Amino acid sequence: MSAVLATSSLDVGYGKATAVTNVNIEISEGKIAALIGPNGAGKTTLLLALAGVLEPRSGEVLWVGRPMQTPLHVRAKAGLRFVSEERAVFSSLSAEDNLTVGRVNRDEVLEFFPELESHLKVRVGLLSGGQQQMLGIGVALARRPRVLLVDELSLGLAPQIVERLIEALKDAASRGCGILVVEQQIERALRASDYAYVMRRGEIVLEGDTSDLYDRRKEIEEAYF
Ligand code: ATP
Repeated sequence: MSAVLATSSLDVGYGKATAVTNVNIEISEGKIAALIGPNGAGKTTLLLALAGVLEPRSGEVLWVGRPMQTPLHVRAKAGLRFVSEERAVFSSLSAEDNLTVGRVNRDEVLEFFPELESHLKVRVGLLSGGQQQMLGIGVALARRPRVLLVDELSLGLAPQIVERLIEALKDAASRGCGILVVEQQIERALRASDYAYVMRRGEIVLEGDTSDLYDRRKEIEEAYF
């Protein structure tokens, strides 16, 4: 596997508190990696460091093998997209206006989520959580990123919507995008991904190909206690 985005002995913290310790992960072209773990494990903090929102305390974030110290907007130019828990859409504008503001081609978004077409005129704040998540991910994917980071893929969403989101991510991966998706629900995370990292108290405690981790679900569950 060729890593596009990676970390090397990454430590990240808030003030005196350490939230991420000695993390080494890789996000590879055309693959979906899942980041699994309980509340407070450090998943969002790790994503924020990968995105360039938080500075590492030590260690490095590497982009195609080179240290990357730039903020998010510069990383975005390099081909990195981050869909945060807030879903990165303007809720007072219509879905269509969001695409215009984001300078995104609507057909490219609809290629991933055709079901959004009938909702394009609707103010985003009035869309369901699932439609908002589709829009956020659709906008990110329409940019054809090399790497996409998605925080809390399924939080509060109906199962059939989550399946559609996973389908779209797999489609993007099949076109070469490397994806890291944060997902708390273990089965769903394994089903969505090619390989996974399990985080607990700031550290990666388990990692491997999804097919192997299926047999180690008990160990993953232990990270939640
Ligand atoms: P969740 O699934 O609940 O979002 P998480 O795995 O994403 O959890 P983080 O949100 O990264 O975990 O939190 C990791 C640790 O960092 C926790 O102990 C949390 O309390 C702490 N933390 C998170 N954000 C801040 C902040 N802005 N200031 C101080 N501490 C923070």
